[in-house]
Amino acid sequence: MKHLSAINKYFWKYRVRLLLGVVFIILSNYFRILSPQVSGYIINKVEQHLSSAAVSHHGNQHYNIAVTSFIDALENHQFTFSNVVILCGVTLLLLALIGGFFMFLMRQTIIVMSRHIEYDQKNEVYQHYQMLDMHFYKTHNTGDLMNRITEDVSRIRMYTGPAVMYFINLTAAIGFSVYFMVQENWRLTLFVLSPLPVLAITIYYVNTLINKKSERIQSQLSSLTTTAQESYSGIRVIKSFVQEKATKMFFDNNSEEYKTSAIGLAKVESIYFPAMGLLIGLSTLLTIAVGGWYYVHHQYNVTAGTIAEFVLYINFITFPVSAIGWTASIVQRAIVSQRRLNEFLDTKPAIYDTKTSLAPVNFAGKDIKVEHLTYVYQNTGIKALNDVSFQIKSGERVLLFGKTGSGKSTIAQLLLHFYNATEGKIFIGDTEVKDIPVHQLRESIGFIPQDIFLFSDTVTDNIGFGLHAVADTKEVESAAMMAGVHKDILGFKEQYNTMIGERGVTLSGGQKQRISIARALIKKPDIVILDDCLSAVDAKTEQEIVGNLDRFLTGKTAIIITHRIFTHLKFDKVIILEDGAIKEIDTPEALLQRDNYYAQMYHLQMAKN
Ligand code: ADP
Ligand code: MG
Repeated sequence: MKHLSAINKYFWKYRVRLLLGVVFIILSNYFRILSPQVSGYIINKVEQHLSSAAVSHHGNQHYNIAVTSFIDALENHQFTFSNVVILCGVTLLLLALIGGFFMFLMRQTIIVMSRHIEYDQKNEVYQHYQMLDMHFYKTHNTGDLMNRITEDVSRIRMYTGPAVMYFINLTAAIGFSVYFMVQENWRLTLFVLSPLPVLAITIYYVNTLINKKSERIQSQLSSLTTTAQESYSGIRVIKSFVQEKATKMFFDNNSEEYKTSAIGLAKVESIYFPAMGLLIGLSTLLTIAVGGWYYVHHQYNVTAGTIAEFVLYINFITFPVSAIGWTASIVQRAIVSQRRLNEFLDTKPAIYDTKTSLAPVNFAGKDIKVEHLTYVYQNTGIKALNDVSFQIKSGERVLLFGKTGSGKSTIAQLLLHFYNATEGKIFIGDTEVKDIPVHQLRESIGFIPQDIFLFSDTVTDNIGFGLHAVADTKEVESAAMMAGVHKDILGFKEQYNTMIGERGVTLSGGQKQRISIARALIKKPDIVILDDCLSAVDAKTEQEIVGNLDRFLTGKTAIIITHRIFTHLKFDKVIILEDGAIKEIDTPEALLQRDNYYAQMYHLQMAKN
């Protein structure tokens, strides 16, 4: 239960709705509980009318004050018998209508409240997800994150809505009917209620069983979906390796398991309702048998009306009681779900703005200084950087050169403060990167990551993604020109309004890279970091982009990461990285005079051309 206390703040937020809901539930139950008494009265009336002896032991019934005044009014008016019957019938109808109306209002308040809470909670979780750092995303898979924000949040809604509503309803219904039954005849009440505990316990156990089974089914279904999804997205691989049969068999096995579990669940469920019917029937049987005995023997003021009244009470509480087990299992599930959510909500982001980092830093004319930087990836223990130190003067253009896995991307990500350095410091000017407000740091650096991601959105929106305002058409076009993708875009059917991704055109790797370059350039950043972003571009386009970049980068600090040589771009400095450590730093001209990885690659490439 303590996990669910995280929800209480929402109940407090919507306390007016909740309170109104409680009032409506009580009113609804109050009006509906009056009808057994009116029915009891009318049955006694009929009995009296039929028996010539008007001395039937009637008149001592303990009806609710509203019912008593209604009866008094009826008797005072001296209506004919048939009119009394009609009036009572109309009253019963009215009571049902009023009770139903309040029930409508109770759903309108409590279920609507739960939808509001669901909305708030989804936003809370989403907001928190966004604050969490890259390390968190490396250690949790997307499916899990998705599940928590969808499945778990809706399970909690089942608690804040239906479960809360049924619980209050149950309390009101049982409270009212037991109170009236005891008022009327406590002996008969004991007999009537005796099977109820057994009923509640049975329902609880069967429900737990059902839940366990449905949870298994749920997870089997999700693995089935994953299998299907993977084979659709990997269909090309499956077909080219002629693995259709094997994949089909795998799917069949999964499917078979799912079917077996689902049939198992159906068996348990088919016991549920007959068992419930049996116990409720037992209650009714006891009422009629014991009540009949008292009636025949003129004991304890029991009339035919009393028996009818009690049978109606049983009917009245049947549904609320059978909802006990259901409500309990919803609460159980909600506890599990909220615990899973709390796990994430209590995770503190490792990267956050500190007190010293609240003041923005002026980037213009600032050098970048890296001192004894070491970085170990926490999840794998890989030491990606080992005591790296270098300096980049403001306005310098630097080539960061090295084989795959030498740690180039890690340097870029540390510069953007995606991770906290394990050891060492990075300065921009005199300020340490960890003390610069994260949003300012990332806004001022144009970073083009190695793994490109474009949204399923228009070309324009993808390019203008990093801007705060809606991108100006001219700006978008000039960024696209600079990135050498303008001509490609003009070739699309809807040009800049073309949808990218699953719902739109499929771009080539090179086009994606160039759009992501345009996305970084449009921000007009002070520092530009290009991480291996021309690898999928052909030589001619590369030359065009590099030519444009040359102009764009004038006066800007630029770090260009690559394992290829750009002959058309002049660099002030080349840093050769090997196994996470710096091998050499020098001007390209000086490096070419000696034997090193850069020179080797240079000559290799020259020989090819
Ligand atoms: P490069 O960009 O030069 O190819 P990286 O900086 O990406 O090299 O990687 C350096 C080392 O760190 C490699 O050994 C790589 O396997 C490891 N590495 C990179 N990213 C991660 C990560 N997210 N988690 C764990 N290890 C990583
Ligand atoms: Mg890399």
